[in-house]
Amino acid sequence: MQLKENVLNVKERIRFACERSGRDPKEIQLIAVTKYLDIDQTKQVLDFGLDHIAENKVQQVLKKYEVLKDQGTWHFIGHLQTNKVKQLLGKFDYLHSLDRFSLAQEINKRAKLQNLKVQAFIQVNISGETTKSGLAPEELLEFVEKVRLLDSIRIVGLMTMAPFVEEKEVIRPIFRRLRELRDEINDNGILGYTIHELSMGMSNDFEVAIEEGATFIRLGTVLFKGEV
Ligand SMILES: *Cc1c(COP(=O)(O)O)cnc(C)c1O
Repeated sequence: MQLKENVLNVKERIRFACERSGRDPKEIQLIAVTKYLDIDQTKQVLDFGLDHIAENKVQQVLKKYEVLKDQGTWHFIGHLQTNKVKQLLGKFDYLHSLDRFSLAQEINKRAKLQNLKVQAFIQVNISGETTKSGLAPEELLEFVEKVRLLDSIRIVGLMTMAPFVEEKEVIRPIFRRLRELRDEINDNGILGYTIHELSMGMSNDFEVAIEEGATFIRLGTVLFKGEV
């Protein structure tokens, strides 16, 4: 892994995107998506000083967390089956993929038993691609009103994935819409508290995401496989 070189390069691109959009790079958390790496390589990433790491498979988290739990902040970014909640709970700091009420209820129930408060992003499927999880934007406000009543879940923000295409002008409106939805939730006051975070931007689109307000970007390929 040419980790150091890749990280420096990414940080420079983050800085430029911030300059273009009048933002402070400190507002943006870089999450290293370590799903491509084994336990040793994941440890190298943590030792290097990237302390936000993300996984998308429950089995991988269980294996890695066992060994590495004293280091870093853990993000779960994959689709979460309701019957896996029990195993996963307590082994991540942020869930990025809260995408249905049945999942929220299961998390809330289990979290309460363990006296945990789960920090979650609501995943929104703005592009409407059938291959992607997430609530439709039209469903979001009603979902928020219901989740508000589950007191072992703390919503921290919204998450989305853009289609995997080259055209920035296809991607940009999707990220912009996520920001507008966050603002709408806050303006309506329906959650009872303000949410700030936007988890958006991957290797091929993180600069556009930053320009549109991302606070957490999730990068794998560009860190671990060189340029994309
Ligand atoms: C794999 C993955 C990423 C990282 O994707 P790259 O294109 O490798 O940067 C980000 N978010 C989610 C939800 C992922 O599954």
